[in-house]
Amino acid sequence: MIYFAAMSTKKIGILGGGQLGRMLLQAAANYPVDTFVMENDAACPAAHLCHQFTKGDITNFDDVYNFGKGMDAITIEIENVNEDALEVLQKEGVKIYPSPAALKIIKNKILQKQFYKAHQIPSSEFIITTNAAELQQHAGYLPAVHKLAMGGYDGRGVQVIKTAADLDKGFDAPSVLEKMVPIKKEIAVIIAVDDKGEHAMYPAVDMVFDQRLNLLEYQLSPAELTEKVLWKIEAIATKLVQNLNSAGIFAVELFIDKDDNVLVNETAPRVHNSGHHTIEGNYSSQFDMLWRVMLGYPLGCAEAILPAAIVNLLGAEGHSGEASYEGLNDILKLENVFVHIYGKKQTKPGRKMGHVTILSKEKQELVHQANRIKNTLKVVTAPVT
Ligand code: ADP
Repeated sequence: MIYFAAMSTKKIGILGGGQLGRMLLQAAANYPVDTFVMENDAACPAAHLCHQFTKGDITNFDDVYNFGKGMDAITIEIENVNEDALEVLQKEGVKIYPSPAALKIIKNKILQKQFYKAHQIPSSEFIITTNAAELQQHAGYLPAVHKLAMGGYDGRGVQVIKTAADLDKGFDAPSVLEKMVPIKKEIAVIIAVDDKGEHAMYPAVDMVFDQRLNLLEYQLSPAELTEKVLWKIEAIATKLVQNLNSAGIFAVELFIDKDDNVLVNETAPRVHNSGHHTIEGNYSSQFDMLWRVMLGYPLGCAEAILPAAIVNLLGAEGHSGEASYEGLNDILKLENVFVHIYGKKQTKPGRKMGHVTILSKEKQELVHQANRIKNTLKVVTAPVT
């Protein structure tokens, strides 16, 4: 018999205090762990759910180092953190999820694409451009998608370049120019890897994008795919994490092209928006799973309890200011619908303010309810009284 009671409670820190950190902390409440968060805003969504909040800059070496010193483990909820400090902390015995080496590759789209190429992980063809003048010389490579190597997120830092006339829209900084993929579907798959290298993969999800805002509009899980494509996804995601050689949670975004080729678009080395339905929809959620990994427990079961859809609640156009949730009562009356509001005081157009998960055995019902929620629940500014 092994007894754990005598072991001291582990101290685990999260860099970043947004909604991902918030949901991670909700799952932490089930385990013996002392939680710490660092973020520069004391009113951030995760601040009041941890045992100890530190106001600090997650991109600053000293802030990250001082925060992590003496902890058992650190994880991230955003890639843009000071990885040099994480490297030093790792040398001093702090476990880092994901490893700083994996984070370094993923953080930079040039290194990420080179990593896929070096390990024969299918991904779109690309060339590297260092400035705008260099980009101008690649009219023969079009149509293509130009992506900033560092600092882009949620579609910012991504520019479609269809013809030579669009070349001016590209970035004047180190970037990758990727061949345009004729996309049939965009898929995401989340995979957890523990310290022993064992892994658990969640069923793949279909991502449907808002073309204008370039943000996830809704998603369906499990994705509707042929068995052959599912096998390809599984093989590619497994190979990817094996080569990254890091424990943690990884979200792999993939394109299925018109010929059913599977290509990796990008990887996030953390819990991810495409896995929020796992809170209610799967036996072990992506958040629960990451705690299991960090606390050295057995991996959980990634299988779905029921098919699910997620609708993201984005700040409505034309509304900036104190957030208010129009239609919330109507949505809360629905069966098998789960509302998550992230607690951000201020809304602005396109800001991720929450999400709603729908569970149903019927795909038609999922799509119907997703549309109903999108049309009913709006994040607006509070009416002046
Ligand atoms: P971000 O990291 O900002 O989310 P992505 O690299 O995921 O940016 O790109 C955003 C979107 O642009 C993708 O979801 C996809 O719709 C489109 N896109 C990106 N790369 C390609 C490509 N090589 N071919 C076609 N479309 C692409």
